[in-house]
Amino acid sequence: MAPDRNREGNRVPMSRPALSEEEVAAVSRVLRTPYLAMGPEVKAFEAEVADYVGAQHGVAVNSGTAGLHLCVRAAGIADGDLVITSPFSFVASANVLLYERALPIFVDVDPASGNIDPQAVAEAIDDLLQGAEARARWLPRRGAERAGDLKGVLTVDVFGQPADYRRLEPLAQAADLPLIEDSCEAIGARYRDQPAGTFGDAGVFAFYPNKQMTTAEGGVIVTDREDWAETARALRNQGRAPGDTWLDHSLLGYNYRLNEMNAALGRVQLTRIDELLARREAVAAHYGQLLAQVPGASAPVLLETTGRMSWFVYVIRLDPGLERRRVAEALAQAGVPTRPYFQPIHLQRYFVERFGFQPGDFPVAEDLGRRSLALPFSSVMTKEEVELVVEALDRVLQRIGAG
Ligand SMILES: *Cc1c(COP(=O)(O)O)cnc(C)c1O
Repeated sequence: MAPDRNREGNRVPMSRPALSEEEVAAVSRVLRTPYLAMGPEVKAFEAEVADYVGAQHGVAVNSGTAGLHLCVRAAGIADGDLVITSPFSFVASANVLLYERALPIFVDVDPASGNIDPQAVAEAIDDLLQGAEARARWLPRRGAERAGDLKGVLTVDVFGQPADYRRLEPLAQAADLPLIEDSCEAIGARYRDQPAGTFGDAGVFAFYPNKQMTTAEGGVIVTDREDWAETARALRNQGRAPGDTWLDHSLLGYNYRLNEMNAALGRVQLTRIDELLARREAVAAHYGQLLAQVPGASAPVLLETTGRMSWFVYVIRLDPGLERRRVAEALAQAGVPTRPYFQPIHLQRYFVERFGFQPGDFPVAEDLGRRSLALPFSSVMTKEEVELVVEALDRVLQRIGAG
């Protein structure tokens, strides 16, 4: 029997956090203590996240975006600096550069994984360090009047699959550039046998409710660099440096603090992370099996370097010529929600208006952007729900493919 539709008319939710009575109890317990804002739970949580990936330091913040922004500040990236990054990502990974009036230098991505293409990164570094003529092809059409020097690389582990760090790390090191790893979609993933988040100078995890584990809102920076950890701790807390009292502010800071309820929730989720990831992997495997019988759509590609995929979303790729919007609309009619992961950042309105990007600037990212569709996915999704989604997809693709 078909499940009933929920209030949005969906027969399957797009995503759902996996919460138990243990999380409810942990949050309730905090409410009976004198600590609501940053306190012992936050301290324990950030240490536990760092320990989970084997990093020296963890700095908890109130979103993944805040964590990335603090890394940009810790790297000393400022007005007019150039930073190489990916156009195929959630907009936050580029926005954090704009917060400091740096210029994102987008380079195209690998068609299999959607991760930044190391070859393109190498070319961009060479050209940008040469200066003059060679620089021009990487700069945006507009908004580059104050373009300064190349000052960093910000990579993204797209959909829970690590970027190609065996090639990216040496490139950044050789050019003496800080490397920030946006691992907001990749907690628990491994590149060969090294955990996502531990490449470059610092990595950032995010814990919004659709991520592999949640704090409702929140994030953690992991790093082996004591100087970065110290800067991030000061900046998240209104610019109070070590030794500053409550009303001393040595730096221009922010209120990016995580609170005790969020941290308590995250601590319980972290104890369950391997179970949550295993369940997501089982859901993805079931999707993969069923999709093999569906003409018109293909399952995500796992690279040989991916020691462990951390399934964040389940993104299929439609065959060229199938119009994603039509597929999404027909699925919505059938009660199956989807998301167009990702709309490339350079074609978001703000970026077009400020920098003059045009369709065709990053063809691989755009092609993926046109053909990628995220299906409902979570660690609590049942086999029946996966079957319902794939059956609906199969029917829709047959209809649309036929005419
Ligand atoms: C989720 C996410 C972030 C950060 O998200 P917040 O909502 O700020 O926690 C950053 N980058 C990527 C690629 C993400 O998917």
